[in-house]
Amino acid sequence: MSAEIISGTQIRQAILAEIKEEVDRMRTQHGKVPGLVTILVGEHPASVSYVSLKVKTANALGFHEVQDNQPSDISEEELLALIDKYNQDPDIHGILVQLPLPKHVDEKKVLTAIDPDKDVDGFHPVNMGRLIIGGDQVKFPPCTPAGIQEMIVRSQTPTQGAEVVVVGRSNIVGKPIAMMMSQKGPGGNATVTIVHTGTKDLAAHCKRADILIVAAGVPNLVPPDWIKPGATVIDVGVNRMGISEKTGKAILRGDVDFEAARKIAGKITPVPGGVGPMTIAMLMKNTLRSARDSLGIN
Ligand code: NAP
Repeated sequence: MSAEIISGTQIRQAILAEIKEEVDRMRTQHGKVPGLVTILVGEHPASVSYVSLKVKTANALGFHEVQDNQPSDISEEELLALIDKYNQDPDIHGILVQLPLPKHVDEKKVLTAIDPDKDVDGFHPVNMGRLIIGGDQVKFPPCTPAGIQEMIVRSQTPTQGAEVVVVGRSNIVGKPIAMMMSQKGPGGNATVTIVHTGTKDLAAHCKRADILIVAAGVPNLVPPDWIKPGATVIDVGVNRMGISEKTGKAILRGDVDFEAARKIAGKITPVPGGVGPMTIAMLMKNTLRSARDSLGIN
C-alpha cells in the first residue's frame, strides 16, 4: 500500500484563501489591512528570491506590503534605526528581516531589536519564551514548525498520546516543533523525543515513532526500515542534489528516502511540495494575527 501524500501546496492554498477572506472582512469592517515590511540587505540571490515570494504572497492577500531594500554596506546603527522606525509605525504589524545579514552586522542584535509584538517570524527570545509557556501566551509560533503542526492537524493525524520523534534540535525547527507537539491542546499532547548527533541509537527511536519529523539536512538519512508501518512522516529537509538537465532548476531531496518510505508510512510529505510551501503561509497567518491584536479583534 502506498502512503497518503500530505501536500503542503494544497494545504497552503486553503490557508491563504482563509487569510484572504479575513483580510477582506478587516478592510470592510475596520478600514485596515495587515501591514508587513520585508527588509532585505544586499542582493544575496537566494534571499532576493525568498523575499520576492513573500512580497508576491502578501500583495495577493491584499496586505499593505512595504519592501525595504538596503545596500549591503548599511551600518548596524542605520539598520537598528530602520527597525525602530517600523516598530513605531502603526500601519506595520509584522517586521521581517531576511537572513543572512552581512558579516559586519550583529544578527542577534538586529533580531532582538524587533518589537516582539511585530516579530512575525517568531525568532525573538520573548516569543520563544511565550512558546515554551504555551496556551494563550503563544503569539507567533515560528513559521516552519507552525506549518508542520498545521499539516499534521489538517491531515487529521491523531497527536494525543502519540509517540513523536523529532530528528534535529535547531532553534528554527527541531526545538520549537518538539515543544509545540508536547503542549496540551489540539495538535499536541504527544510524547516527544528529540534525537540528534549525540543520540546513541537513532534507528531505535525512529522505529517507534507514530509521527516522525525529520529536520537534519542530511539526504536519505532515514531509510525505510526506520519507519514504523503506518506512521506519519514529515520530511523537513531540503537538500540540493545538483541541477536538473531537463529544467535547469535545482534538484531537491528531503532527509527521508521518499520512494521507499511511502510504501511503509501511512502518510508522508514530499520534497518539494511538502513543508516548504507552508512556511510563507504561516508568516502571513502570523501577520494577520498581529493586525487583529492591534485592532483588538478576537
Ligand atoms: P540545522 O540548524 O543544521 O540543524 C540540524 C539538526 O539535525 C541538528 O540538531 C543536528 O544535530 C541534527 N543532525 C544532523 N545530522 C544528523 C545525523 N546524522 N543524525 C542525527 N541528527 C543529525 O538545520 P535546520 O535549520 O534545522 O534545518 C534542517 C533541514 O530543514 C535543512 O535541510 C533545511 O534546509 C530544512 N529547512 C526547511 C525549511 C522549509 O522547508 N521551510 C525551513 C527550515 C529548514 P546536532 O545538534 O547534534 O548537530
